[in-house]
Amino acid sequence: MALMISGLGVSRGVAIGAVHVMQRSALEIYERHLKATEVDAEVQRFQSAVIMASQQLLDIQDSVPADAPKDIISFIGSHLLMLDDSMLSQVPIDLIRERQCNAEWALKIQRDQIASVFEEMEDEYLRTRQNDIDHVIYLIQKILFDQQYLVSEEVQTLAGSIIVADDLTPADTVLLQNQNIAGFITELGGPLSHTAIIARSLGIPAVVGVPDARLLLKNNETVIVDGSEGMILAGVDQDTITNYQRKQKSLEQAKRKLHSLRKVAAKTQDNVLINLQANVELLDDTRALANCGADGVGLYRTEFLYIDRTEPANEAEQYEAYVKVIRLMKGRPVTIRTLDLGAEKEFDPKYQGPLAQNPALGLRGLRRSLRDTELFKLQLRAILRASSIGPTKLMFPMLTSEDELQSALVVLNQAKSELIKEDQAFDDTIAIGAMIEVPASALAANQFAKNLDFLSIGTNDLIQYTLAIDRIDEAVNYLYDPLHPAVLQLIHLTLKAGQRAGIPVSMCGEMAGDIRYTKLLLGMGLREFSTHPASLLEVKSVINATDVSALEKRCKDILNKHISSAKIHHLVDQLNL
Ligand code: PEP
Ligand code: MG
Repeated sequence: MALMISGLGVSRGVAIGAVHVMQRSALEIYERHLKATEVDAEVQRFQSAVIMASQQLLDIQDSVPADAPKDIISFIGSHLLMLDDSMLSQVPIDLIRERQCNAEWALKIQRDQIASVFEEMEDEYLRTRQNDIDHVIYLIQKILFDQQYLVSEEVQTLAGSIIVADDLTPADTVLLQNQNIAGFITELGGPLSHTAIIARSLGIPAVVGVPDARLLLKNNETVIVDGSEGMILAGVDQDTITNYQRKQKSLEQAKRKLHSLRKVAAKTQDNVLINLQANVELLDDTRALANCGADGVGLYRTEFLYIDRTEPANEAEQYEAYVKVIRLMKGRPVTIRTLDLGAEKEFDPKYQGPLAQNPALGLRGLRRSLRDTELFKLQLRAILRASSIGPTKLMFPMLTSEDELQSALVVLNQAKSELIKEDQAFDDTIAIGAMIEVPASALAANQFAKNLDFLSIGTNDLIQYTLAIDRIDEAVNYLYDPLHPAVLQLIHLTLKAGQRAGIPVSMCGEMAGDIRYTKLLLGMGLREFSTHPASLLEVKSVINATDVSALEKRCKDILNKHISSAKIHHLVDQLNL
């Protein structure tokens, strides 16, 4: 009987293959009360398990093939760091001693304690990292149980299979990566889980968040995984398989066609050259970045150097992180955005205050940096020093007032003076720009454009602030509309301000990477796009098929102030036909 199961499609494409269910046996963990004389030996047993766990991960790290996605190495690295952290290396020992209990039980108590903290977190990315802790704890528990943790023996002849698992650890993926797996289905995980990230970078279709997948799907049965639709089909007839084989073929053809655009310039049919850049968020993105043929980096988000880690990065580490991307881009400009900390992305409790009622309207972005000028200056020094290695641009997030800009420039000049005194090289002509993310700055864009070398429209926040809808609040998601007439007017004002001042205006929010809006934006006069590396070639294919001059008049009609939202949507649909 045919079975259709829905999940979350996290890596696009269609896979058809035989199921291989990976069972990770559940561990039965009980409390065992120890005699006082047994405690030292139990602590030792725990410590040896942690050492063995590290050794296992190091061995796997050494075996990662050179062409593996960098994500895998960094995920395993983060698991090694966790093993070193006192939350896993010391707290369980304290628990063994205090409670006189067995190591397995102490680890379980600590796991539950950590999980309760993670459950409180609002940030989806951080919540996802609970899985990492579980993977590491499972590894230690397995060693305590004296069992082989890894799926190694299973990984023999899996070419063409669809792997069905509860969740996959980065270590599992190292073992799976050379097996030509056709697709992944996991019971756990969201768009930011390891399986999702790694499947995307390997280009393997994946559906995650499918409860009971291991019960519903049987070993060796043929299933279809549709990673674009988040759908799994089992027990289907030959006609359905043939249909999906066709879909698979045409998707692969389209992918090959897109891939061939990597070395082709982004140029419209009427020969307007478009600057098509990429966004970088984590250093793990560099493989995708190197392969997407971007004209530069239009947005290098730097928050990862501060949050989701034990200590903020010092100047040397920041410098290295910037230089890495600058070198990778081989002479194409890299736009580094200063910290956009604040609200829920805060690491220093001092600045959290009595957590604001409206954190998005609180101390974030450039405001936050100006409140802690030493931290700000440290970052500016690192960026300036990196600018001596290759073309670099500096960008301030969430600029709202002229005074803020002037204050930021004062700190920048202090950083420059310090570097001159220290005889450190930097590019004194480094371009300075700002993001237009709040309606106020779009309305005052003329003023900002006079004092800056470039502007970049951050539509994620611009839409949030213009339409007064929290971008992470699902209850108001339905109101999130890039085509709202007010949003389009603000984009238009910003583009005009740039043209008047003779400075480039780019767009680096999600809207720039969404092909439903590419033609409209071209017709409105946008000539620089910065998108996620995964969307870049798709946007390029639309650009290269567009005749801008034919669009301009139609886009003017869309910008007509008296037009309704529904009519705008209709006209944009027509534009895309
Ligand atoms: C934006 O707001 O559009 C943007 C690119 O910045 P972030 O998503 O990092 O807030
Ligand atoms: Mg923003």
